[in-house]
Amino acid sequence: MVEIKSDASLDAMRAAGRVVGEALAAVRRAADVRVSLRELDEVAREVLREAGADSPFLNYRPSFADTPFPAVICASVNDAIVHGIPTDYRLRDGDLVSIDCGALLGGWAGDAAVSFTVGTPRPADLALIETTERALAAGIAAAVVGARLGDISHAIGSVGRAAGYGIPADFGGHGIGRRMHEDPHLPNDGRPGRGMRLQHGMVLAIEPMFLAGGRGDYDTAPDGWTLVTTDGSRAAHAEHTVAITDEGPRILTLP
Ligand code: MG
Ligand code: MG
Repeated sequence: MVEIKSDASLDAMRAAGRVVGEALAAVRRAADVRVSLRELDEVAREVLREAGADSPFLNYRPSFADTPFPAVICASVNDAIVHGIPTDYRLRDGDLVSIDCGALLGGWAGDAAVSFTVGTPRPADLALIETTERALAAGIAAAVVGARLGDISHAIGSVGRAAGYGIPADFGGHGIGRRMHEDPHLPNDGRPGRGMRLQHGMVLAIEPMFLAGGRGDYDTAPDGWTLVTTDGSRAAHAEHTVAITDEGPRILTLP
């Protein structure tokens, strides 16, 4: 069931989303060559703590996972697509990092992600990140009252396919509200004009993830969480929590 939020609830979700945006901004400022993923998790923990927010990631255990998630961010480096566990790995020159973060504040959830490079970037990585961000922007632009869910999927997938990138088939965006993951599932590719009609008060986490390797195949790493590209190619991920409103899409996870 898709919950329609009141305007007051959207404002409350904005407060939760702002914490996510600020945590991601702080992590990005702290990320550099030789900084460890665990240190980046600590940066995000501090932002959540100061805001009085809880983490929907910490101890999260969906059906596919054998162990609860141990951190407040996912940190996915290079061939890791999403769901990377922050370890003692220290970032190296030219790494492509995707950070996903969530917050729970006042009973509402926010969820967002950003990808960036540290040190001297590879041009191919910058193109992959730019295209993923452009797909997110296209998905957000399609999230308008009266459009359909498939219009968002199509907007995202069109950008990725035009660039020749792979799109993992089983992962995408989702409804969000009091819980981080709610209905509906939002595929990162699809046919326009299909699916649920969008209305004022729906909130979606829109999150393209593209693989430089065009096939889009992935595996689960031995840690049971991290999704990695089968061909070893690099991946990028970008996400915002977005409210559909009569005034147009409202991004809830900006800092
Ligand atoms: Mg996320
Ligand atoms: Mg999400």
